[in-house]
Amino acid sequence: MFIGHFGLGFGAKKAAPAVSLGTLFLACQFADLLWPSLVLLGVERVEVQPGATTMTPLNFVSYPYSHSLVAGCVWGVVFGAVYLAMRRSRRSAAVTLALLVVSHWVLDFITHRPDLPLTLGGQTRVGLGLWSSVPGTLAVEGLIFACGIALYTRATVARDRIGSIGLWSLVAFLVVAYLAATFGPPPPTAAAVAWSAQAMWLLVAWGYWVDAHRLRQRV
Ligand SMILES: [Zn+2]
Repeated sequence: MFIGHFGLGFGAKKAAPAVSLGTLFLACQFADLLWPSLVLLGVERVEVQPGATTMTPLNFVSYPYSHSLVAGCVWGVVFGAVYLAMRRSRRSAAVTLALLVVSHWVLDFITHRPDLPLTLGGQTRVGLGLWSSVPGTLAVEGLIFACGIALYTRATVARDRIGSIGLWSLVAFLVVAYLAATFGPPPPTAAAVAWSAQAMWLLVAWGYWVDAHRLRQRV
């Protein structure tokens, strides 16, 4: 899943209005932000295998530290605790962020074929396999994404032109990147996949930038 995660990040603004969109992106995509570095370090493994699923040519050979349910829960608690340590007054926001980190696994569980581990060392791997259907995946992810943006634009209002142009160009960029990854040619190597996935950090920065140019709106 790709834009569905961001949809949840956008939508979480309603539950945690004081938290920047950048921090919400950091939480909902924490697993996918960690993963490329672990792949490049040789700790986790991915292979490019055209036809692995209809939706993606990636075969996730091993990724227990970024993508197991246990790791997701641990990262969620750590993320929430670090946020709470930095912003003492915001307990409910910390809980929202922790849940957002765990939500990554849940959404991936819906789309991935059974390749998601439950624990760090166990052999059990799960996944409902929505990725075997391109229309099904686009419909589910597109719906989550659209709902998330609707919630975000109701929870905030642009303070200046950057607040609106920056937001809508971010939305357009996410959609184009998603469609390019879905319908474009498969990446040449696993290392190329990991390096290009590092570009996700720019989306986190983009989230902070846009959010700083929008005001909270009471509805
Ligand atoms: Zn993921």
